[in-house]
Formats: sequence, structure tokens, C-alpha cells
Amino acid sequence: MEKIQMKTPLVEMDGDEMTRIIWAQIKEQLLLPFVELKTVYFDLGLPNREATGDRVTEQAARAIQEYGVGVKCATITPNAQRVEEYGLSQMWKSPNGTIRAILDGTVFRAPIMVEGISPVVKNWEAPITIARHAYGDVYKAVEYRVPGPGKAELVFTGEDGRVERQTIFDFQGPGVLQGQHNRDASIRSFARSCFQYAVDTRQELWFSAKDTISKVYDHTFKDIFQEIYQKEFQEKFQELGLRYFYTLIDDAVARIIRSKGGFIWACKNYDGDVMSDMVSTAFGSLAMMTSVLVSPDGKYEYEAAHGTVTRHYYRYQRGETPSTNPMATLFAWTGALAKRGEMDGIPALVDFSQKLERCALETIESGCMTGDLAGLWEGAAPVRRASTQEFLAAVRTRFEG
Ligand code: NAP
Ligand code: MG
Repeated sequence: MEKIQMKTPLVEMDGDEMTRIIWAQIKEQLLLPFVELKTVYFDLGLPNREATGDRVTEQAARAIQEYGVGVKCATITPNAQRVEEYGLSQMWKSPNGTIRAILDGTVFRAPIMVEGISPVVKNWEAPITIARHAYGDVYKAVEYRVPGPGKAELVFTGEDGRVERQTIFDFQGPGVLQGQHNRDASIRSFARSCFQYAVDTRQELWFSAKDTISKVYDHTFKDIFQEIYQKEFQEKFQELGLRYFYTLIDDAVARIIRSKGGFIWACKNYDGDVMSDMVSTAFGSLAMMTSVLVSPDGKYEYEAAHGTVTRHYYRYQRGETPSTNPMATLFAWTGALAKRGEMDGIPALVDFSQKLERCALETIESGCMTGDLAGLWEGAAPVRRASTQEFLAAVRTRFEG
């Protein structure tokens, strides 16, 4: 079989620990034999971030802006223990945070569903994708512990010197205060990314907030979504037969549980943080969750939702054969390759990616899976607990068969 040729390179970002090993295995076993892989390679592994003063992360993000599509391996976000373990000169920032700040994107997370592993919510038939706004609100709040009686005020001083003042509360005793903000520009790019992703994936979009209570703050989110929908996306949605609607967060939660799935749920920062853990747990496993960062100007960065699986890596270093689930990392690659194929007009690359995903799903559905899934299995086929290598080999056999 002739290898599939690529036009534009993918931005490839290597990472750390167990996922770095899996990264190399996926390339060797499932990609390089079939695709003349063209990538611009950046090593985001912690030792190279240290060696480059973390410039490599910024270079990778700039490359995504230039080429349009990237695929990223999980990376360590250093804490005090990692500083010691790797002898770091600094506690480098989260690479995902750095990349997100440059691309200004929204993160979409979706579960990979297979027959034989059922969601806890039994009527969920299709994935629910959560789109989380990744800027502001409580994550950039200013807080104050009120020591005792006194008046709390909200004061805004305009550039022109104009002062706006509102009483928050007249405290008779101690309490707490918090000041939150968001920016129209950030909310706009969040809204655009959500509508664009809904069009790309042909799914309807729900957006929820609490505008009945938060009549200015949350209402602004609702209004901006509505404005962008009407001005930029309504026609496209109608053409594709898609629906956009806004509903209150509490109504959304009730509807989500009763739904069949198969849509995108856009959430404000805090709602997305909480709800994505709820939704991913109910679907089964973090190892079966994909994640893509979409920028408002249509750049894509694909990755797994999980981390570097440190516990498995330490066991691997002691000589154990790992049974770490490579699905989310594999789907990051297939997602990125399919997007590249779509953008560059290479149907063979899109077909290849879809077929590889199908073979991986069928491998699990045939009973061959890594340890994390074996315990959740309810299918008819007897379970075979495979190592990562064995699982990837089984996918390849199926792909070539
Ligand atoms: P983690 O790597 O996601 O792993 C947590 C646990 O979840 C594992 O110990 C394992 O449970 C299970 N798990 C996760 N992925 C799995 C897979 N593919 N197959 C099987 N089991 C899987 O989270 P962490 O241990 O909290 O973080 C490790 C490192 O990753 C940290 O340095 C953190 O900074 C980094 N991190 C990076 C990203 C990213 O780059 N996007 C995201 C999160 C964390 P068992 O041990 O019970 O089998
Ligand atoms: Mg969280």
C-alpha cells in the first residue's frame, strides 16, 4: 500500500512520562507505516522546557497560529516536588495555559463512547461535549475577608475620571467579599469558538448561565451570544438544520440528565470546571475523553484530556509492563490528521483517521482493552486485559485485516 501524502505539516508537541512513551508507540505502530507524516516537531517534555527557558512552548503555540493544526502530548505542570525531581531553575507555567493564552481559545471536551461500556445515565446515547470558557470570573477574582462592621462599595473610576459607586452591603459584623470580572472581547471569542465548533461538528449548541439572578453580569454573556449568533452564524445554522438556544443553568442541568446526548454545552468558566468532571465521570473514564482547543480564528489544538499518568510511568520504570489506555492520545492524533486532511483537501487522510478510530473502537468492543476499562466492561465478549503495546498491536491487526 502506498503511504498517504500530506501537504501542510502538523504541529507536533511531544510531552512527558507515560504519555511520551505512548506517543512514540502510536506513531511507530499506527501512523508511520501508513502516512508520510509531515510534522513540525516541538519537544515540550519538561527537560527541554527547562533547557529552552520554556521558549519552546511559546514557539509551538506560534507554530499552531501559522500552520493551523497541532497535536499535543500530555505534559507535566511543575509543582514544588517536580522542581526537585527535575532540578528545575523555575516552576515553569502550565504549557496548556501558555498555549491557551496565545491562541485565545475555548476547550471542548468529549467522551469516546464504545458499546459494552455504558454511561451511568442510561439514556445518554451520544457524547455530550462541554465547551468551557477559560477566562475570568471566580478564577481571576479579588477577595477580601471583612473584619467587622463597615460599608462595602463597588467603585469604578473611568479613564476620564468619572466615578461610579454602588453599595454592596452594610456589614454589621464580619463577612466575606469578592470582586469578579470578565471582558466583552473574551466572551465574544468564547461565543465565536462555540458556534464555529458546532458548525464544524454538526451539533446543536446549548448555552447556560444565570441571567435571572445576575441581571448585568450573566445577562451580558447571554446578549453577546445572541448577538454573535444573529450576526454571524444564524444562516449557517439554519442551512445545516442546527439549533442554538440559551437556557438557565438549572434548567440545563435537568435537561442534560434527561437528554440522549449528542450536542455541545457551552458553560461559563466555573460551570464548565464543575460540570465537565460530572459529565466525564458519568460517561466512564478520563482515559476515554478527548480535548480540543479551538481559537476564534479557526486554529485547532488536539490532545488527551488526561495527564501524563505518572503512577503508571513510575511502575514502568521499575520494569512493569504498562496497561495504560492510549485511546485519548490516539484520538488526538486522528482528530488532528482528519482536520489537516479536511483543510488541505486530502480525503485519504480523513478516511485513514476515521478508519483508525473505528478499528480502535472495534478492538475494545471485541473484548480487548486496557486495565482501566476492563473493570467497567459489560459487553458480551469475554474480556482480555491487554498491555498498551498489545492493545495497539490488536488495533493494527484489525486495521490491516
Ligand atoms: P493523570 O495523569 O490524568 O492520572 C491520574 C490517574 O487517572 C492515573 O493514575 C490513572 O489511575 C488514571 N488515568 C489517567 N489517564 C489514564 C490512561 N490513559 N489510562 C489508564 N489510566 C489513566 O493525572 P495526575 O496523576 O493528576 O497528573 C500527572 C501529571 O500530568 C501531573 O504532572 C500533571 O501536571 C499532568 N497533567 C497534564 C495535563 C495535560 O497536559 N493536559 C492534564 C492533567 C494533568 P490509576 O493510577 O488508578 O490507574
Ligand atoms: Mg476541575
